[in-house]
Amino acid sequence: MSDEGRIIQNTEEDQEWADLLSPARRNFMISAGLTAAGLTAGNIEASGQDIITPASFKPIVPPPDVGKSPWGYETIKEPTPRPRSIRPGEENGLPKAPRPYTDIKSYHAHFYFDEDSYEKAALVRKWSIERFPVELGNWNLQPRGPHVTPSFYFGFTNDLLPILVPWLQLNSLGLTILLHPNTDDPRADHLYYTLWVNRSQPVNAYGMPKQATVEKIFPNTKPTVKLEIS
Ligand code: ZN
Repeated sequence: MSDEGRIIQNTEEDQEWADLLSPARRNFMISAGLTAAGLTAGNIEASGQDIITPASFKPIVPPPDVGKSPWGYETIKEPTPRPRSIRPGEENGLPKAPRPYTDIKSYHAHFYFDEDSYEKAALVRKWSIERFPVELGNWNLQPRGPHVTPSFYFGFTNDLLPILVPWLQLNSLGLTILLHPNTDDPRADHLYYTLWVNRSQPVNAYGMPKQATVEKIFPNTKPTVKLEIS
């Protein structure tokens, strides 16, 4: 095997020494040593490096406010309370049995965006409704319901889940997408039964009450583009 073909890998110990002796780290260690030895910043500057030392940094701190706390001065004495569990079935300890998955009657996909990512949202929205029969909602440029940023959503029937999850994974364009089921418990649907594509974000659903009837889906888009497959 030629040298070019050989994979040269540092052992952990080699890497540790290489990191320790890297020029940036060496310079840092030298300057730290000078500071520890009581030498002035002038010496370091004279060596041609532009280093702000802790001694030369002066934070600007506003003067303290004068007045009284509206909370009074006894809050420190309050005992630590334990909130009641709001996970369905866990109000009094662990649940006795799993929830039937057939409690899920439909799904929502919520797409979050902002002033920088709205064009991506528009593109994923267009691609989605060209390919899937979904119930498409309108654009929300303000927080709406439990959703705390601009968003749009579409609802879909359970049979689309095994296709829409991988499709959205590959076509999210990096947007944050909340996929939640619809059961009789919207709070749990939004907070505990969720799937997220990419990172999650806060959902303000703690006040959502149980529903007598579960959200139904009535698709309002007709696919015009054949779904791409490889
Ligand atoms: Zn929803």
